[in-house]
Amino acid sequence: MATPTDRKRPTLRPQGRPAPKLIFGDLWEYDPAPETADPKLKPRYELFINGRWVAPASGRYFDSINPANETKLAEFALGGTADVDAAYRAAQRAFTTVWGRMPGGERAKYLFRIARLLQDRAREFAVAETLDSGKPIKESRDFDVPMAAAHFFYHAGWADKLDYVAPGRKVAPLGVVGQVVPWNFPLLMLAWKIAPALAMGNCVVIKPATNTPLTALKLAEIFQDAGLPPGVVNVITGPGSTGGAIMAHPTAAKIAFTGSTEVGKTIMRSVAGTDKRMTMELGGKAANIVFDDAPLDQAVEGIVNGIFFNQGEVCCAGSRLLVQESVARLVVGKLRNRLRVLRVGNPLDKNTDVGAIVSRDQLNTIQAYLKAGVEEGAVMWQPPCRLPPKGFFMPPTIFTGVTQSHRIAREEIFGPVLAILTFRTVEEAVEKANNTAYGLSAGVWTDKGSRILKLSTELKAGVIWANTFNKFDPASPFGGYKESGFGREGGRQGLLDYCKLT
Ligand code: NAP
Ligand code: MG
Repeated sequence: MATPTDRKRPTLRPQGRPAPKLIFGDLWEYDPAPETADPKLKPRYELFINGRWVAPASGRYFDSINPANETKLAEFALGGTADVDAAYRAAQRAFTTVWGRMPGGERAKYLFRIARLLQDRAREFAVAETLDSGKPIKESRDFDVPMAAAHFFYHAGWADKLDYVAPGRKVAPLGVVGQVVPWNFPLLMLAWKIAPALAMGNCVVIKPATNTPLTALKLAEIFQDAGLPPGVVNVITGPGSTGGAIMAHPTAAKIAFTGSTEVGKTIMRSVAGTDKRMTMELGGKAANIVFDDAPLDQAVEGIVNGIFFNQGEVCCAGSRLLVQESVARLVVGKLRNRLRVLRVGNPLDKNTDVGAIVSRDQLNTIQAYLKAGVEEGAVMWQPPCRLPPKGFFMPPTIFTGVTQSHRIAREEIFGPVLAILTFRTVEEAVEKANNTAYGLSAGVWTDKGSRILKLSTELKAGVIWANTFNKFDPASPFGGYKESGFGREGGRQGLLDYCKLT
């Protein structure tokens, strides 16, 4: 019988040939594994006003494309001010005649039904979201859609317990709220906005982003199927100016906006002097801080998740890595090895880690930042990777040798680009992390609980993750400091932003 030592090792390559140079990413070639669920697309989507599908007053439509192959997905109504007026009229009527008077326990049943219907159609919604936005299917399937359903479930749970939102006080709905959301989490942002508004008894006029209107209209189908009374939620598609009309409308008792700081400021100026309530969820430039006592492999996963998740098109992305000088080389080395095996490509493929950038404009913006980073003296590194021939793709990118004055360290890029800076002491880490106009989120990686507590009080950010990153829960309020905005979404605090207290 042959012993283990007698066995011949299998020959990996013909004798005498030089060993091929291995690129990490080539070690494992996966077969394509595209998600095949039918996204059930209609060729054309109208506006959703007063519970019905309505053609826009303009008679015009715009296309939404799939950024992964630049093909048209469907066309969408170009809503304007006349449509916004009609939506507000319907919402006001629904508020005064039905929704604002309905007992919370009854409203809860509708929210619960919406959540269940979303779960029933989860795969269809995940594919639709991926097609419209370019985000990898594993994110839309495992994060966006389940988290959107979770927000409706969570707020269904609150609707009959609103007396506990502010113990000792009485809560009442505000009326009609106008809401505008961006393209990076199209469905999830709708859920963050609509669920608390409805639980509290408000009615809604909402606009999705031009790049990603699809799941908003599919959600409207669910509102119909759930029997939501007409006018409680109205969906208006259209350009930024239509968003402006929603925000400035005199009927809106409150406006809620998620998007860029620049547009947020424009909106605030347009409603200055009115008594509208306002919440603003704006940009970010989060620091992910890694100390030398951190579990480094885990931290590297957190860094990757923090900035390359959803192609870095995340307001709370950990776009600045602050790493303690003593472990900087080690961490950057580990990070490079990890990036070499990230899969960039077809967002519908279940193995894809980094999908398509949402639009050509956004890709151009990111590339301009790469150029600025190099011109300002930082060192750019990208793993070797093959990008699909069509669509808006780019490799994950890191910059070393970055200083605090570099634009890539100060401005929100909204792409898979990480600026790496170093620090020596805790004080220096806090100072550098807070040296930004934004204050949405931050991450701390360390073995010391006391250090986590110290940093969580000293970092000026609305959310601070410790030894993890990008974790969300409907019960946990989310929102910013400084130019990242004000108001909270999620949890009891989020509900407080949708009610009057007496
Ligand atoms: P954006 O340009 O500000 O657009 C956001 C939304 O506002 C879109 O629906 C847009 O419509 C609409 N809009 C544009 N101009 C408007 C105006 N003058 N008045 C009213 N609405 C207007 O932002 P984006 O590029 O879509 O999204 C990326 C930004 O969102 C980033 O800065 C990111 O940090 C931020 N964001 C923040 C959070 C948060 O919770 N803090 C979450 C997600 C994203 P069109 O699409 O038709 O232009
Ligand atoms: Mg699209």
